[in-house]
Amino acid sequence: MPVCGLSRSAEAMVSPAVDPLMADPAEPIRCRYCHGESGEVVLDLGQQPGCEQFPRPDDDGPDPRYPLRMWCCTGCGLAQLAEDPGLPETVLSVEPQAMRDQAERVLDRLAAEGWLHPGASAIEFGSPHGGSWLPRVLRRGLVAADGRADLVLDTYGMLHEPDQSEAMLRRAARLAPGGLLVFQLFSLGSVLRLGQWDELRHGHHGYWSLPALDEALARYGLGVHRAWNYPLAGGTLVVLANHNPKPDRETRMTIEAEYSAGVLDFATLRKLQERADADAARLRAWLTGRARTRRRVIGYGAASRAVPLLCHAGVDVSLLRAIADASPGKQGRRMPGTQIPVIPPEYLRSGQPADVLLLLPQLLDEVRRSVPEVEDRGGRWIRVDDVLAGRA
Ligand SMILES: [Zn+2]
Repeated sequence: MPVCGLSRSAEAMVSPAVDPLMADPAEPIRCRYCHGESGEVVLDLGQQPGCEQFPRPDDDGPDPRYPLRMWCCTGCGLAQLAEDPGLPETVLSVEPQAMRDQAERVLDRLAAEGWLHPGASAIEFGSPHGGSWLPRVLRRGLVAADGRADLVLDTYGMLHEPDQSEAMLRRAARLAPGGLLVFQLFSLGSVLRLGQWDELRHGHHGYWSLPALDEALARYGLGVHRAWNYPLAGGTLVVLANHNPKPDRETRMTIEAEYSAGVLDFATLRKLQERADADAARLRAWLTGRARTRRRVIGYGAASRAVPLLCHAGVDVSLLRAIADASPGKQGRRMPGTQIPVIPPEYLRSGQPADVLLLLPQLLDEVRRSVPEVEDRGGRWIRVDDVLAGRA
């Protein structure tokens, strides 16, 4: 049985590790944007630990678990976190170079299209992940604003706002007439297209699609002016909104493409559940097969993203002995919700040879270079996406 099976199980509901202060899942859910109560849970990952709460070794657990469900509102189409335990967002890793490059790329484009006037005012609604764009626009000659601003930046900010209605109001209120509101977000359209059900996490409250965001902005006399697609993290959207939107053909097509992909269709959104269950079953079956053949497997990449997958699959230390990770802040701790220890990558250079399950597939080239001993000693690097796609 999965460690954190679907929360429909009565057993999970009475788990002593569940915070009693959490809202009763039987209570109606109220939309974080339009306050409507009509909607549907489209993804239920059961009882999950905080994916950034890596316990210290002297903490035997059990780790507190909380329901993790995505609910979609019939009224405004916002996919959102159904309930949230209010865990602090702790960032143990540094901002990746790819994020810094992305910021400059977007700002270059904004400048080229005449949106960054020297002397114009700017403010930012940031995110706990950091990655502020404000110092970058100030270096380009804009000035920080106290009141309304010509440029209002939001880089993953909305995602972290429990009260989406109040958050949108605050952004709209700070926008000067003729100004530009810029969102960088990972759109629900990308989540669907990539099947990235593990985007759902505590602390991430609103998962906007482009059509829903366009509708929501209309409440404040705003609309989507441009939507720019970037390949970062598989599909990052930069949305430019203003009072006189006039979207161009490419932007209208991007909005239409999200409609067609089913971002407002519950049956399509529920496919995220099928994908989550299938991924969990595949990973578990693969690791169980390895254990049967006595093939030693170590993980690599103690990413918060790996937590819901391991947990939904019920993978613990019997199937995955350890996970190596380069960040000193995680080493010596254990993966949330499991007894799997996080070890320094140096451990892969000695000890018994093992295959390494790469939980962050984009690191393959880097880790093959930095830890050649894995392959020198007869082990293999195996990408988790290959396992989930049945290619490993
Ligand atoms: Zn709503």
